[in-house]
Amino acid sequence: MSHRAEITTNTPEALRAGALLTIDLDALQANWRTCAALAPNSTTAAVVKAGAYGLDMVRAAKALQNAGCTTFCVAAIDEGVKLREALGSGPAIHIFNGFVAGTERDFSENALTPVLNSLADIKAWSEYYTTMGEALACDLHIDTGMARLGLPDDELQTLIDTPALLGHLKIDLILSHLVAAEDVADPVNSAQLTAFKRALDHLPRARASLANSSGIHLGSEFHFDVNRAGAALYGVNPTPDKPNPMAQVVRLQGKILQVRTIDTPQTVGYGATYCAQEPQRIATVSLGYADGYHRTLSNSGMAYIGQYKAPVVGRVSMDLITLDVSGVPEELSRPGMLADLIGPNNPVDDVAERAGTIGYEILTSLGARYHRIYVGGE
Ligand SMILES: *Cc1c(COP(=O)(O)O)cnc(C)c1O
Repeated sequence: MSHRAEITTNTPEALRAGALLTIDLDALQANWRTCAALAPNSTTAAVVKAGAYGLDMVRAAKALQNAGCTTFCVAAIDEGVKLREALGSGPAIHIFNGFVAGTERDFSENALTPVLNSLADIKAWSEYYTTMGEALACDLHIDTGMARLGLPDDELQTLIDTPALLGHLKIDLILSHLVAAEDVADPVNSAQLTAFKRALDHLPRARASLANSSGIHLGSEFHFDVNRAGAALYGVNPTPDKPNPMAQVVRLQGKILQVRTIDTPQTVGYGATYCAQEPQRIATVSLGYADGYHRTLSNSGMAYIGQYKAPVVGRVSMDLITLDVSGVPEELSRPGMLADLIGPNNPVDDVAERAGTIGYEILTSLGARYHRIYVGGE
């Protein structure tokens, strides 16, 4: 990846951009295969909502389709419509947020599968379904602990007591969503598993789906017919208490604009939150919180130039950050040279920890001003 990426850093677009974002679609494909290999008897669906967690929904989904993925999940109807246009008629596309009144035709015209999240959804879909004259499948989401989307206990009981509510609906998936799958020790995992199995026992036969990226690692009893992998595909560690089994997909390199040598003590950046002492060298790099480099990385972020550490000093501003490059050889830290903000030495989870958030949010904030270089994925 680095070899091919370096070739393209001399294009006019790369020269004009403040920072380069390289997205390794070969690594994305490898990560999907890794998830699939962990659950060989299940279908591994790719969750590509929110622009494939900031990486670009269509490019990511096409690469995953090339790798053999046949099932995709998004949050919103719009995402589904766009994805159907890009992927053609082959793959299944599930819409987590379901449908809202007035959008039924978007589902039938684009062969999108709505996740029905409540009795009201079931009733509304049934009404449309009877007018449709074709058997368009839907999914049922059972809430087993998230209290977010899905049928709560009382609605589930009503559904079990009144099978006619499901009428002739064609149900593809019955799903639920894990609350804390990344924490293997959390007893909520087995509680949700038990609740989910109990629901399945009382509902009509359909394929079942419980695990997200981390859930896949909880063991085969969490693997039903379909697993829904998101973050792990994009390089986030699904097993935070163990080394990351996923390949890194994203590399973010910021360009050094200017290097200042401190010969008298001097504060750096807004708010004067950091005081540089001679003989420090401070490099100003052209990206900031407007690009999704979180302001909480002020005085806590860590960049790398090759193997050399360059801590973020002072506040992150809108378009700029300042790095202490005193420990970096001068010939590697001159204007025009690149510093890794996300890279081999500072993967997305490390950046997230320093920013006080999760890798998911770091990825979905990746900015629109970066020059994006997509590698591989054929
Ligand atoms: C986002 C989402 C997923 C994917 O979760 P990851 O932790 O990113 O793997 C799976 N299922 C549902 C319902 C989701 O909303």
